[in-house]
Amino acid sequence: MNSAPNYFYPFRMGRIILLAMEEVLGQSEVNTVLNLAHLPNYIDRGLAYNQDQKLPFEHISRIQTAFELSYGPKAGRGLVLRVGRVCLKYGLRAYGSELGMTSLAFRLLPLPSRIKVGSETLAGLFNHFTDQRVRLEVDEEHIYWHIERCPLCWERQADSPCCTLAVGLLQEALYWVSGGKYFPIEENTCIACGDSACTIVIDLTPLS
Ligand SMILES: [Zn+2]
Repeated sequence: MNSAPNYFYPFRMGRIILLAMEEVLGQSEVNTVLNLAHLPNYIDRGLAYNQDQKLPFEHISRIQTAFELSYGPKAGRGLVLRVGRVCLKYGLRAYGSELGMTSLAFRLLPLPSRIKVGSETLAGLFNHFTDQRVRLEVDEEHIYWHIERCPLCWERQADSPCCTLAVGLLQEALYWVSGGKYFPIEENTCIACGDSACTIVIDLTPLS
């Protein structure tokens, strides 16, 4: 029996992942992945679920693993990255206005401030509304997005960093915040590889 404490995403956030999966994969492939994850209950995308429903970290992690079982590790992680990118759109729809990220005042900030405020706001969203823990570290050229309690690789073991959903989400967030610039973003350490945190490094020099 697993006696570890249970950690959750509120269903409002979990549903963002399910909607993004459907946009990337189409409904029948989503069903395949959810069946492989032994989570057929989510097949209706949770539309019938009430607001109090929660998504345990184990389930979030199992969905990531199911992508890799279904498509192979490389393609599976690539698809999860795309799902992460699409999550931003649904995330802004669900949380954007209450976080102020869609406000004119935010959009008028100079780019470095927008990136700083945007990443702090996004980290705050996870820390406040979910049991995921994110710690930001910033130097002149980088933002280090340390996920210290990570649902994506929860109780997983992997040979290389595997939290590509977070990488995709941050890629798209930076793209959106900067008005269309690409920033190199990479997960350098991962709890599934035995590291103490899943650290995603954002290089603040855009590619274009
Ligand atoms: Zn992780």
